[in-house]
Amino acid sequence: MNKLQAVYDQVVSRNPNEPEFHQAVLEVLESLEPVAEKHPEWVEAGIFERIVEPERQVIFRVSWVDDAGKVQVNRGFRIQFNSAIGPYKGGLRLHPSVNLSVIKFLGFEQIFKNSLTGLPIGGGKGGSDFNPRGKSDGEIMRFCQSFMTELYRHIGPDTDVPAGDIGTGAREIGYMYGQYKRLSNTHTGVLTGKGLTWGGSLVRTEATGYGLLYFMDEALKAKGKTFKDAVVSISGSGNVAIFATEKAQQLGAKVVTLSDSDGYIYDPEGIDLDAVKEIKLVKRARIKEYVSSHPKATYTEGCSGIWSVPCDIALPCATQNEIDKASAELLVKNGCYAIGEGANMPSTPEAVDIYLTNKIIYGPAKAANAGGVATSALEMSQNSMRYSWTFEEVDAKLKQIMVDIYKNASAAAAEYGDADNLVMGANIAGFEKVATAMQQFGIAY
Ligand code: NDP
Repeated sequence: MNKLQAVYDQVVSRNPNEPEFHQAVLEVLESLEPVAEKHPEWVEAGIFERIVEPERQVIFRVSWVDDAGKVQVNRGFRIQFNSAIGPYKGGLRLHPSVNLSVIKFLGFEQIFKNSLTGLPIGGGKGGSDFNPRGKSDGEIMRFCQSFMTELYRHIGPDTDVPAGDIGTGAREIGYMYGQYKRLSNTHTGVLTGKGLTWGGSLVRTEATGYGLLYFMDEALKAKGKTFKDAVVSISGSGNVAIFATEKAQQLGAKVVTLSDSDGYIYDPEGIDLDAVKEIKLVKRARIKEYVSSHPKATYTEGCSGIWSVPCDIALPCATQNEIDKASAELLVKNGCYAIGEGANMPSTPEAVDIYLTNKIIYGPAKAANAGGVATSALEMSQNSMRYSWTFEEVDAKLKQIMVDIYKNASAAAAEYGDADNLVMGANIAGFEKVATAMQQFGIAY
């Protein structure tokens, strides 16, 4: 980097011990170097220095009582990163690995992702180091209520609208929304991913997984390929992975793997999705249960080996940095020609270099998984209108948004001289809209 190196150096010195945040900022700033060359007025206006600094960061105590009557204390976060083009929008992650660095990386990425959707939403993210695994329903409820007891004063339907993420699904959104409603005495669209009887949108549950497939389908078509008869490897078995599998199968692909944080399953016959839904969504059990009813399938302890399974297309849908350099090399060696990121930042920078060097068709997370937040924004629109669209209407809008994201990212990549580089294209297309708004607001913003 030339013009933006100093911006990155300041991020590192001002935010020590935040490696995930540094990683996300570096990737974006590297892509924006040609933008800084082309737009000296944005350099002059300090847009780059401002965009890497969150507008507001809230860190709070979350106390709750477990089933044994013992007091538990967790840490809650909400990073309101950038509201230049709309209210802060981004999910709430409940996972023991959550810390300030993780939430800031996610919030930073969200600025550009949300901008790419073409909808008026700013970037934010939140969550807690609470571990939902093994907790009873009552414990989940008490945690969510305590979490919202502090969070409610910082959010609002025109200020900040959180959603789900790892560990936060329909059940958790229900407990949080109930508490928000009780505290604020309002029934507004302050969270998305709501239940269908109290303001939720059809397709929101499926949106990230379906959107990933719509995006990748467009990227494949541009290179004369399709999902039909392709062998697809997917990681994770949560919300994104399950609905990515569903749409991949509808498009004629054979999905052969899924995983959770303990290990992965490989089914050479193709994954039986009804069985997975029963295990993960109904019984909330571990993915290894699958092999007891599917004798041809195998279960392997540990996650990284999943990328040694030969496939045409890989869709990482679990968590950050799940594909490292060695896994990326293995995927390419085994003939994988396309990678689409359902999870946020699932590939290390070294893995991304391997994709780009080998001309892999690569859909980076902030473009490829934007379907979830886009449909959340459609949920907000329906809440404002106090009206609900049909499944077909929302699905058609989602599809069009994903096709447009692909077109805009690839047009920006071409404009800046690297037509196939969708990382660069997505970062630039997302950034330009936000930068324009920030400049128009003047320096105090
Ligand atoms: P879920 O909690 O529904 O599922 C997460 C899945 O990933 C589970 O199978 C989980 O296994 C596995 N997983 C979590 N942490 C790890 C880990 N450290 N190592 C290996 N596997 C792990 O979350 P989502 O499906 O909603 O989210 C998955 C990814 O997609 C995340 O990166 C999220 O930020 C991203 N995303 C989600 C969106 C959404 O709409 N939900 C929108 C855009 C992006 P286990 O059950 O063992 O924990």
